[in-house]
Amino acid sequence: MSLEHEKTCLIGLDRSALAAAIGSADVPVKQLSMRTKQIWHWLYHRGASSFDEMLNLSKDLRATLAEKFTISMPEIVDEQISNDGTRKWLLRFPARGAGAPVEVETVYIPERDRGTLCVSSQVGCSLTCTFCHTGTQKMVRNLEASEILGQILLARSQLGDFEGQEAPYDLIAPLEGRKLSNIVMMGMGEPLFNFENVKQALLIALDDSGLCFSRRRITLSTSGVVPNIFRTAEEIRCMLAISLHATRDELRDVLVPINRKYPLETLIDACRKYPTISGARRITFEYVMLKDVNDSLRDARELVELLQGIPSKVNLIPFNPWPGSEYQCSDEKTIDRFSEYLADRGLTAPIRRPRGRDILAACGQLKSESQRVKLT
Ligand code: SAH
Ligand code: SF4
Repeated sequence: MSLEHEKTCLIGLDRSALAAAIGSADVPVKQLSMRTKQIWHWLYHRGASSFDEMLNLSKDLRATLAEKFTISMPEIVDEQISNDGTRKWLLRFPARGAGAPVEVETVYIPERDRGTLCVSSQVGCSLTCTFCHTGTQKMVRNLEASEILGQILLARSQLGDFEGQEAPYDLIAPLEGRKLSNIVMMGMGEPLFNFENVKQALLIALDDSGLCFSRRRITLSTSGVVPNIFRTAEEIRCMLAISLHATRDELRDVLVPINRKYPLETLIDACRKYPTISGARRITFEYVMLKDVNDSLRDARELVELLQGIPSKVNLIPFNPWPGSEYQCSDEKTIDRFSEYLADRGLTAPIRRPRGRDILAACGQLKSESQRVKLT
């Protein structure tokens, strides 16, 4: 009998890898394609978390699969629910190789017309953007494709979003449609530094027989790993968000240090080409509002010039402070003025209202609470 953690997890395998895996478990070659289809259906449409639920597979086959494989879902260490309906889960994944078990946070943000899941791609982050709390935490490891998908599957199951499931009594969710309708790769980590795993997970999320999300409802956010922006355009073709935050190299070099490797000119060139290559109709630029750092009307003017000719939306994010951070959030009036300046010049620039503040679920705050608790 193999130990649970040594078994291959079937979540996150594409069709051919899944067929190869079950082929090695003596499923006859003639049946491989049908069995693969059935297992995908159970995993991604029905949210099965055990082989016993897969009733159109014979009892013997279910037993063989359970002997050799797992459907390994993250363990919920903690769930917090904000008074605005935002839910934050602290999730634990088992150790890989010589490492220890790891924890990441995943956040669900309900709105009237959508329910968005903010998914993590790494444990910690190797980059050190100066305004981001995740950037102060050491990079532990990349998440596997199964762990990225595991966050989505777990959230759907907690929200009662699979066929035949009931939603929790206290759920705040969109008025109609799927409770989890949108995915943003904006949790912990830099998704384009974990490209292969993120790609594998998102291709299953996009697949009609997988989680069946439309391309318009999956957004990958990056600090600007230019070569992999091109790969995203060609190989994933989802929506793209760029963490811009500054309009001049000298300032962006400080705020988003990867800018020293891929400066604004190369980043903006990639953004100009992204819609044509990927088919995405526009790019989102995230801009964190830092008092007296990047919030002047000069910055707003330069932003308009920089984004000229790129179909864009600018998300203005009021800075979320964290203990020890050296920045302050811009005044409300300054943010309003900045937003109006952009809007007057034809740039959509909504101010992102912070969600889940009472449970520290806002941008850049993830994992801080759990780390703090461990330190005390
Ligand atoms: N690493 C990726 C995705 C995760 S960060 C990236 O950098 O794009 C998600 C968004 O939150 C980014 O735009 C990031 O710049 C922003 N962010 C980080 N810390 C923040 C803070 N303290 N306040 C507001 N936004 C923050
Ligand atoms: Fe990493 Fe993104 Fe935070 Fe920068 S903003 S440190 S890339 S998670």
